[in-house]
Amino acid sequence: MTITYDDLLTASSDTHGQDIVDPATGERVGRIRFRTVDELDAVIDDARRAQPAWAATTDDERRTLLLHAADAIDAAAEPLAEILSREQGKPLNGPNARFEVGACSAWLRATAATELPVETVYSDEKTHAELHYKPLGVVGAIGPWNWPMMITTWQIAPALRMGNTVVVKPSEYTPLSVSALINVVNGVLPSNVVTSVAGEGALGARLSSHPDIAKLMFTGSTTTGQNIIKTSADTVKRLTLELGGNDAGIVLPDVDPAAIATDLFWGAFINTGQTCAALKRLYVHTDIYEAVCTALVEVARTMPMGRGLEEHNILGPLQNRAQYDKVSHLVDAARESGATIVLGGDPDPTAAGNFYPTTLVADIDNDNPLVTDEQFGPALPIIRYENLDDAIAMANGLSFGLGASVWSSDHEHARNVASRLEAGTVWINSHGGVHPMIPFGGIKKSGYGLEFGAEGLKAVSAPQVITWATTPDGNHTTETTMVRRQL
Ligand code: NDP
Repeated sequence: MTITYDDLLTASSDTHGQDIVDPATGERVGRIRFRTVDELDAVIDDARRAQPAWAATTDDERRTLLLHAADAIDAAAEPLAEILSREQGKPLNGPNARFEVGACSAWLRATAATELPVETVYSDEKTHAELHYKPLGVVGAIGPWNWPMMITTWQIAPALRMGNTVVVKPSEYTPLSVSALINVVNGVLPSNVVTSVAGEGALGARLSSHPDIAKLMFTGSTTTGQNIIKTSADTVKRLTLELGGNDAGIVLPDVDPAAIATDLFWGAFINTGQTCAALKRLYVHTDIYEAVCTALVEVARTMPMGRGLEEHNILGPLQNRAQYDKVSHLVDAARESGATIVLGGDPDPTAAGNFYPTTLVADIDNDNPLVTDEQFGPALPIIRYENLDDAIAMANGLSFGLGASVWSSDHEHARNVASRLEAGTVWINSHGGVHPMIPFGGIKKSGYGLEFGAEGLKAVSAPQVITWATTPDGNHTTETTMVRRQL
């Protein structure tokens, strides 16, 4: 049976709930009921009870169910993309809503295919030791509003694969998308294995302090991440914190500006700049500074922005007014400081929706707030440098460390520069691409913990060493302890 937009929205909404509005029009998309802390506690309890049976399934059974969940998402891809586009604002086309829904099923399949065998960590004629990975219990997943379905999938897929049950707390701005996704996934999973609980104000703190949540995965701001460290301390919860960044890109003088301009553009403006690992500060060598600015302007002018449901658009509104105000304020302050607005910076105050035009800001100082604060929107500062050591020092000068990029036609030189950058990932001649088999995570105030691939599976597991004393021929021995054997 084909799932329609109306079916999915009705299943994910609650007519008695809170209005969720389309950031492109201000119109209501749907309603969802925000849950109380008591209701969250009941969901956590159900997840705790469901976990032993889920963990008792075989790894192959869980892999198969993840593959079925991916098939279910593919079957509902178009209505899921429409809900996402209307609620988050991102266009259907381009690297946006349809792309994001496709990434959800792709990530589930890749997670199902990832191998995490028992490791022999030590073995000699006296001792054998193996490292096993076991389920933790109930995992909490708090996601953001920029890539709500994809990041929720990044959180739930490895946790489920490893035998944990999951309680998801979506952003209050995008609960319909996440609820719709979880409803689709729950078409194939047993009850209470994954549940989404919408709400605002107290649910996040409850998840991060609840004694039955063994691990919390969070993607969002550094400030909230710091609060989570505090509220999770009493229960010594394991944490994966993906706290955004202020990624730098360094363009060396040996590039062809026109050849890299499109990749630079998407590195910065994917999802209209609302991406944790987007390029947010561009350092360009003085020899090619004007040429790079011009090439970026030419590319940016060809990228239509507008309502996501209109197929030709590939940039959308900012998801919420607070984010619009933040970007607006930073660009205005940059202009007042004497920086040159080479494109954009002139939103239409009479227009409906949170549309902020694609904005490029040149001749800007490295200590300008548009450079030092995470804009999280379609405004890119372009900073001139003469000396590479200075550019590297400026790139490393902030407390963030999620991603960075180096742009050069000399691969060895680029690798050398990359190794000097303080970031969890450094891309060469691209920015922001992620892959389900390649570990991803930040350093400094961008957080800690790796996602994706085998490292991502380890992060939602309890490591357990099983060890025994062996005889010289490699068999186990009846001697009671290794210590005794050593003696
Ligand atoms: P936040 O990053 O501040 O996170 C809000 C979420 O965290 C809500 O679900 C909230 O739940 C929960 N939360 C709050 N306090 C705690 C706590 N002590 N323990 C556990 N969970 C808690 O989101 P915002 O939307 O306010 O974004 C602010 C800024 O973050 C943006 O301007 C942007 O710069 C950045 N950002 C970064 C993202 C990234 O990809 N890294 C994504 C989105 C935003 P509750 O309402 O129940 O308290």
